[in-house]
Amino acid sequence: MKRAISVALATLASLCAAAEKSPPLQAGAAAVDISPTEFPLNMPGGFRGNRAEQLHDPLHARALVLDNGTTALALVVVDNLGVSPEVMEEAKALAAERCALEVDHMLVCSTHTHSAPASNTREGSAPAVAYRKRLVAGIAESIVQAQAKLKPASLGAASHPLSGVVFNRRWYLKPGKMPPNPFGGMDKVKMNPGTSATVLDRPAGPTDPDLTILSVRNARNKPMCLFANYALHYVGAVPRGKISADYYGEFARLMPIRLRADEDFVAMMSNGASGDINNIPFLVGRPPREPFEQIRIVAQKAADTAWQAYRKIEQYQSAVPLGMMERGITLQYRKPNAEQVTRAKAVLAIKDEAERAKLPRLADHYARRTLAAAEREDGLTVKLQAIRIGDFAICAIPFETLVEIGLELKERSPFAQTMVIGLANGRHGYLPTPRQHTLGGYETWLGTNIVQKDASVVIVKQLLSMLDTLSGPGR
Ligand SMILES: [Zn+2]
Repeated sequence: MKRAISVALATLASLCAAAEKSPPLQAGAAAVDISPTEFPLNMPGGFRGNRAEQLHDPLHARALVLDNGTTALALVVVDNLGVSPEVMEEAKALAAERCALEVDHMLVCSTHTHSAPASNTREGSAPAVAYRKRLVAGIAESIVQAQAKLKPASLGAASHPLSGVVFNRRWYLKPGKMPPNPFGGMDKVKMNPGTSATVLDRPAGPTDPDLTILSVRNARNKPMCLFANYALHYVGAVPRGKISADYYGEFARLMPIRLRADEDFVAMMSNGASGDINNIPFLVGRPPREPFEQIRIVAQKAADTAWQAYRKIEQYQSAVPLGMMERGITLQYRKPNAEQVTRAKAVLAIKDEAERAKLPRLADHYARRTLAAAEREDGLTVKLQAIRIGDFAICAIPFETLVEIGLELKERSPFAQTMVIGLANGRHGYLPTPRQHTLGGYETWLGTNIVQKDASVVIVKQLLSMLDTLSGPGR
């Protein structure tokens, strides 16, 4: 009798422990239109200015909120080149005021579409000021709406490769083909060096073809939300002056069809570690496309791949441990030496047109960036986040992160499946690995990259330790 009671008590205790560990999951998702309504607007992302005059397709802030009773967190994807940390912080604070979520349990990332307005413009025009407001309010609203929609849910994760649309854009060139860099030196590799076989030798890095999804279903097992991630910088070729969410928007539009989902279903595509990955098929060539055609082609392939991944999920879980950690780490600014400063000043002092024509491409632009870098003081504190959703993990990095960093995190993560999101919680330029720094090229240039050359090593180490903590016992 006594034994029976103790067994019964033990069973009860383990049931309580199980319930405490994994309370039932609730989820909610929402998409809020953040398209600009006033024009013109500055669109950053190219070396030539680009004024937005017209909307081609809408921009959104899309949010997924997960809540298991002990932990609640929000994942937000914003159609923008790179929302500034200030705008993101304002939006998070506004959302926290309006719903029961903590600001350090919100991951906000940008898709990196190159055809969206600047987020934190200094131009001060009425449309720019209005857009900043709309962006802050829209990001916050997406979180508030998703949180308000919380209902019982289950989730699963999977990935499936899509290799034909991602290419490493940094290349070694044939002897004698490398042009001088803007600083007058010679790099070992070049970004986007054209597609000629007489120029191209071999790519300087890998790609990551895995499209990863987190799929959320409601209590009736109908799709509620699909949060995707893919390491592709963007597709682009958007006509000048037009606003577009690039393939991220088209992917979100197609996914409800792929999954036969109801109207309130929300899909979102976040940007992976794609700083050196684009959609140019070097050495292969591609027939000419009409505007937006290539965006649609890539979106269709990505949607098909997400559908393949979706079908791989065998088991959905409705009781999952959730965890989220945020760390501010301080990195040293990368500074020019005295010789680099002298050269930059000399470049900017040249007034004679014939002399200026002899300068390397973008010499002026990077001379100004060199002088700006010399002025920077102290370090830059950036935000890293790690999230646990059952046996699935997310790493969030506020840089245009080169692909090897994403691959390393996925490889070394203690979780069954790991997603690496770039341009999350801010945008602080490119993040190359120390190896890529030794090769040179656009992503490593002083001014394109603004932090210490081993920043990626520091960041990977931090994120892995955060993942370890999240995966540890008691979590
Ligand atoms: Zn970029």
